[in-house]
Amino acid sequence: MARYTDSVCRQCRREGQKLFLKGDRCYSAKCAVDRRPTPPGQHGAGRRRKVSEYGTQLREKQKTRRAYGVLESQFRKYYEKAAREKGITGENMLRMLEQRLDNVVYRLGYGDSRPQARQFVNHGHVCVNGKKVNIPSYQVSVGDVIAIKDRSKDIDRIKDLRENGLGRPVPKWLELDAANLTGKVVALPEREDIDLSIEEHFIVELYSR
Ligand code: SF4
Repeated sequence: MARYTDSVCRQCRREGQKLFLKGDRCYSAKCAVDRRPTPPGQHGAGRRRKVSEYGTQLREKQKTRRAYGVLESQFRKYYEKAAREKGITGENMLRMLEQRLDNVVYRLGYGDSRPQARQFVNHGHVCVNGKKVNIPSYQVSVGDVIAIKDRSKDIDRIKDLRENGLGRPVPKWLELDAANLTGKVVALPEREDIDLSIEEHFIVELYSR
């Protein structure tokens, strides 16, 4: 399966924004965006180009895609589906990204970054409504219960969650029972629940060219 091979911190530096891809490191003084807030590469620090309208739209799309760890073809499918649905296309698209199982696992704190959450799903540690689901793009629905399999409860990150709680807020569309390692989808995510700084209208403009 295709995947990113670029250093994850380079992706954040390219977008000029924290994408929170490395868990605790993202909140520490070691974060590469805090230490070197310039684009990566030999001429990154000296580069000052006027960004075109297309460039702005492209960067917004790349940033969002990278934050959620979605490849281009799949990302475009989210846009196409969002455009067919009722409502505001950009918001529909962000809602679908938030409803991905790997994102929900991250939001519930089972993983300390989206890449780690995705790995938990891939490795079969996660159940939805009592059944193992190992598809990171699986779309959760209201009422779904997302839990860690019994045999996976000794993983360090999971033990830490049970003992110390999440340490970051759980969005209001999810309900976490950290002691029992279960989370429930109580509503669909709304625009205000998405804490990443994204201007989704740029993405819609890019794909509607
Ligand atoms: Fe690296 Fe995380 Fe900082 Fe991004 S936010 S540069 S992934 S440490």
